[in-house]
Amino acid sequence: MGERHGGGGRFGRVFHAAVCWLLAFVCAVSAWVPGGAFGDEAASDEAPSAAASSEAVRTVRVAFPQQFRVMWTDESGVRSGYTYEYLERIAQYTGWNYEFVAVEGSGAAAFEKSRELLAAGEVDLVAGIMSSEQSRSSLALTRESYATLGIVLLASAERTDNPLVSASADRPLRVAAVEKSTLLGELESFCARMGIAYELVNCADVDDSKAAALDGRADAVLATDMAAADGLRTVGHVSSHPLYFAAAQGDQGLADKLDAALERIDSADPMFRSRLHDEYFTQASGAFVLSDDDRSFIAAADPVRVGVLSNQPPYQYEENGELKGIAVDLLEVVAAKTGLNFTYVPAASEDELDGLTEQGVIDLVACFDYNYAAARERGLSLTQPYVTASYVLVANEGASNGDIAGKRLAISSSSRYDGMFIGDAVRFPSVAECLQAVVGGEADYTYVDEYVMQYFLNMPEYRGVRVAPQTHEPRRVSFGVVRTGDGRLLGIMDQAIGSLTEVELQAVINGDVLRERPFEIVDFVRAHPLETFATAAVVLLIVLLLILVILYQRARANAKTALDLKKRLRLYALCDDYFFEYDKRTGSLVISLPSKEGQHGVAEPITVNLGSDSFALDEEQKTSFVDLLRSRERRVEEVRLPDADGIDHWLRVTVEPVDDAGRAAYAVGTLKVIDEERSEKDELMAKAERDSLTGLLNSETTRRRIAQQMDALGEGERGALIMVDIDRFKEVNDTFGHLEGDHALVDVARILRESFRVGDVVGRLGGDEFMVYLNNVKDSAVVKEKCEAVRRAVERRASSDSERRITISTGSALSKPGESFDDLYRRADEALYAAKRDGRNRCSF
Ligand code: GH3
Ligand code: MG
Repeated sequence: MGERHGGGGRFGRVFHAAVCWLLAFVCAVSAWVPGGAFGDEAASDEAPSAAASSEAVRTVRVAFPQQFRVMWTDESGVRSGYTYEYLERIAQYTGWNYEFVAVEGSGAAAFEKSRELLAAGEVDLVAGIMSSEQSRSSLALTRESYATLGIVLLASAERTDNPLVSASADRPLRVAAVEKSTLLGELESFCARMGIAYELVNCADVDDSKAAALDGRADAVLATDMAAADGLRTVGHVSSHPLYFAAAQGDQGLADKLDAALERIDSADPMFRSRLHDEYFTQASGAFVLSDDDRSFIAAADPVRVGVLSNQPPYQYEENGELKGIAVDLLEVVAAKTGLNFTYVPAASEDELDGLTEQGVIDLVACFDYNYAAARERGLSLTQPYVTASYVLVANEGASNGDIAGKRLAISSSSRYDGMFIGDAVRFPSVAECLQAVVGGEADYTYVDEYVMQYFLNMPEYRGVRVAPQTHEPRRVSFGVVRTGDGRLLGIMDQAIGSLTEVELQAVINGDVLRERPFEIVDFVRAHPLETFATAAVVLLIVLLLILVILYQRARANAKTALDLKKRLRLYALCDDYFFEYDKRTGSLVISLPSKEGQHGVAEPITVNLGSDSFALDEEQKTSFVDLLRSRERRVEEVRLPDADGIDHWLRVTVEPVDDAGRAAYAVGTLKVIDEERSEKDELMAKAERDSLTGLLNSETTRRRIAQQMDALGEGERGALIMVDIDRFKEVNDTFGHLEGDHALVDVARILRESFRVGDVVGRLGGDEFMVYLNNVKDSAVVKEKCEAVRRAVERRASSDSERRITISTGSALSKPGESFDDLYRRADEALYAAKRDGRNRCSF
């Protein structure tokens, strides 16, 4: 319990105030008559323990006025308080039972009532009596005191000055006090001793006097240090008074028993009283007011340079380039309270930090064990401790049987402990490394404070260590202020730390100790190597099994696919067609071959990559073929493509696109060689266009082709139309017969075909009439020449047999720009008519 609450200056005020006003009353009331004697005086000389054992258990009736922190019954009926606990402790030695008699009212009235109850014999015991002649004569007081009451002057916590210092003869100190209070004499002598001029501000009661100090009617209030004093702070100690228990005047035996118990308690447990006091009355004031001098110091001060040692979590450490820890967080709180600014100077080692102190680079050391000798050595003044933490022993399995004799102790090189250690001490640079050494087996045990341990216990790798709380002196940590002379910074820091409530302080500590640390796999592995290995092995095994299963299933699927393919290829081979499969993404075309006659089994399909293979196609053919294969809907087309030997073939290609999950991925289809079909068709088509007797183009085709060519004539280009008609052909028929006539027609046709270029249109219009169209003629001379040549060739045809001689007449015309076929035909026909009219066997133009 509470070593850390050691600030004796912060003596609780609640108790004091309450008791003080009781005392004031005690002293004021003189008409007190002692109550009747109790019938157990025979036992009064015996030792309390003997009394307890020899007589029937006595029930002592105790006046119990409600006074917070002194004698208190809470809502659920649980009693507490300094005096209450003292009484219970006493009962351990006396063997008494208590009957607590509730006293109504509060303050002086409640106390007066208590005294009345004692006088009336309704209670046996009253607590909180100050020794005075009057009380000694009218009550059976104990010799031993059980508490000390301070009479103090309180001023408003808001005031930044000390009113006792600023008071003068001109402006006397205005002290609020309850009218006719018995404490006035003490105030008088205190002020006389201190040379303080004062005047009284009379108040009706305690609350009024406090209000006077708060609202400015008075500079200070006379009060006790056990009273609640919200908004007030102590500015002067007037006097202090021991407090006693009292029995009724005739009941000295009870007082004696109390004394015997008090003595026993004191000798058995000398710290009992101070512990109890700490428990009930020590509290941070919460009020924090800087004096004017402090304020001006802070206003003028440069930022306070704070040396922070790294790697001392949770107090001070660097993480991600940021300084953290309880010390740093606390300084932020201090900064907010005081207005001081702090800048941080990191130091890697203790020596470096000492160097910084020596060189005057820093003003403050963030974290220093509360050790005056060590601080003095380094020229540091210590603030009051901000952390008090019990030590724990941390051991690994090597020391876990509890016996640490002969085991290796890990100790931080920064530790200032210079006592003796049992066994070997191994030094490590930091506390963290000491713990790591214990975890790692380089040492068996170490001592760290509870917060350090808690911080590390949050990490998985430290979870395996054994921890035992230690009872020796706790570790106390304070700020070290570099000694500068006036101690102003030390005072401000001390006041700021002192003003922190337990809750505020604990919040800062918890924030750093209970920090959630991110889970790191490395930490986990380090903490659980076996489990990790086993888990990893199991996972690996499962993965391996899965891979095996997948591989097996894939092999089965592949075998099935291969079989499917084989069946399909067999099926394809039964047909005459080539089946193909085109992969749109890779551009590869796989073509299955039909089986050749007499050949069993299946030929390997050909694979062609249309992306890269030339495949004997020219660029244009390839583009249009690929376009066809990539078609998004079913298409059937006849294309003329060369085979591998460069021989052209007609193919009928049927393409069927195949989706893969909504995307056109493949095309399948057939390739059929249709060379024969195609040539039959071509022949038929050719026949339809020809005149069956002469093989020349028939009339309709002739006209159509000429019209087409005329339409395609370019600017300035001209065509020529020649009309050819055999002279008096009727007579040939009549003379030599139709067969001979036919021969003559065939001959003329041959001569015409031979006389003109391939591109010229040569046709038979019907009967003995022919038509020739020459495209792109230079001039009429060429046409005339041609006509003349043809006429002579016909004339010569049967020169040997003059009987059968035939002649022709021609009529020709050159096309005019934009002229229609019909107009040109009419002009050529007119020319032919002219040739006939002029005597035949001639060419007219
Ligand atoms: P012209 O000098 O004025 O042309 O006198 P022509 O006798 O040749 O008169 P026309 O050109 O009008 O006579 C054409 C004759 O050709 C009429 C017909 O008996 C004959 N003919 C028509 N088609 C055929 C055929 O296919 N074979 C044969 N042998 N004669 C045919
Ligand atoms: Mg004719």
